[in-house]
Amino acid sequence: MNSTRNLIYLNLTISVKRLFISISKTMTPIKSSKRQQLIIAFQRMPIVVLAMIIFSLKINAQSSYWYGSLHSHSEYSDGNMGNDPDYHDVKSCYEYIQQNTLNVNYWGISDHNHSGAGMAIADYRKGVLEADSVNQDNVFTSFYGMEWGVISTGGHVIVHGIDSLIGWDNGNYDIFNGQSDYGGLFDLVAQRGNTAFAYLAHMEDTDFGNLLQVPYNAIWDSAIVGLALRNGPAFSTDTTYSSLPSYNYFDRYLDLLKKGYHVAPGIDHDNHYIVFGRTHPGRTVVISDSLNRESLMAAFKRRSFYASDDWNARVEFSINGFGMGSICSGPDNPEIKLYVSDPDGESITWLRMWVGVPGSGIMASSVVSMQGPGSDSLQFTNPIIPGQTFYYFAEITEADGDKIWTAPIWYTRSGNPPAFELLDFTAQRVGNQAF
Ligand SMILES: [Zn+2]
Ligand SMILES: [Zn+2]
Repeated sequence: MNSTRNLIYLNLTISVKRLFISISKTMTPIKSSKRQQLIIAFQRMPIVVLAMIIFSLKINAQSSYWYGSLHSHSEYSDGNMGNDPDYHDVKSCYEYIQQNTLNVNYWGISDHNHSGAGMAIADYRKGVLEADSVNQDNVFTSFYGMEWGVISTGGHVIVHGIDSLIGWDNGNYDIFNGQSDYGGLFDLVAQRGNTAFAYLAHMEDTDFGNLLQVPYNAIWDSAIVGLALRNGPAFSTDTTYSSLPSYNYFDRYLDLLKKGYHVAPGIDHDNHYIVFGRTHPGRTVVISDSLNRESLMAAFKRRSFYASDDWNARVEFSINGFGMGSICSGPDNPEIKLYVSDPDGESITWLRMWVGVPGSGIMASSVVSMQGPGSDSLQFTNPIIPGQTFYYFAEITEADGDKIWTAPIWYTRSGNPPAFELLDFTAQRVGNQAF
């Protein structure tokens, strides 16, 4: 292992509507046409984004970290594939989790919504009630929802917070939505406000009615809180935490962010056997004040969660006091702070901070990369021009290869754009102290 800490300064070049921001030279007078473009870019910031700012919370010293996952199956769709007689319903699955699965505080069962995968509306209703019966504030939080859609007609969306079955099969739904109508589904979820969310499962690049190709939709953005960066293995029977997920959806995360969607990353088990969270230690980690449905639902809605291959790593990430997932603004330059800790003492060997411009269509870049001892903490101020919005998120690698991806923080520096063009943009690390 490299014994010296390496902080690498990377040049970042982001173009927004032909306005070029590059790094570390001088500021030069802006040509009038470019200035105009800059102002236009600012004025076009969607109103919904401004409205979402109220869902961003300042970091609370009392915040706690809750470990679990949102995506798994019971026999009410195509789970319990081993046909274990002890686990014919949702309640017994939850009892299994509470008795056997290590490092879980909450869990989501998300049965397929359609009859082709075994769902009957009566079972969905039972699943909702059974999940309610095991939900216990400050002990364990259960979510029962659905995995909506068919892979061949557009993909799978995890929906939690809606106690009605959304479907298209004759006589087998509470709320009708056409089989390949993903826009309709996101609209339905958005209508539920802060009580429900959509989360994208094992996303392929043409999924969800070509979400990545059709224009950005602010209403859908308000429904979709995140996506799985890892999924499965869906048909594993391993209960020794040693079968790692086979897929990585990091590229889809970058795609959604550059499109302008405000999403956070998670890790899905998607198990179809009675193994719930025991095939590997990967968890979706939620940061919220307390362990109950209301607090966790609010945290999911404000994207206060992250994907961790490690089942108890803790990441503190903030910009000017705003926590993970925040859409926030202020008059100052963003001061970025990140600190990773692991109760097992695992060391962090690589830390990268990514930055991008939402809705720019340009992929985020790594702006800071640190390797070796000391890469468990980072603090730097990133000078940006007033009126600009950037998002930042961290990619963290532990000594054993485990990855952690944080949710982004979207930060807008308030104020009027200056009458010059910023040609240079340097990420600079200040000190090495934890905070
Ligand atoms: Zn699926
Ligand atoms: Zn699934």
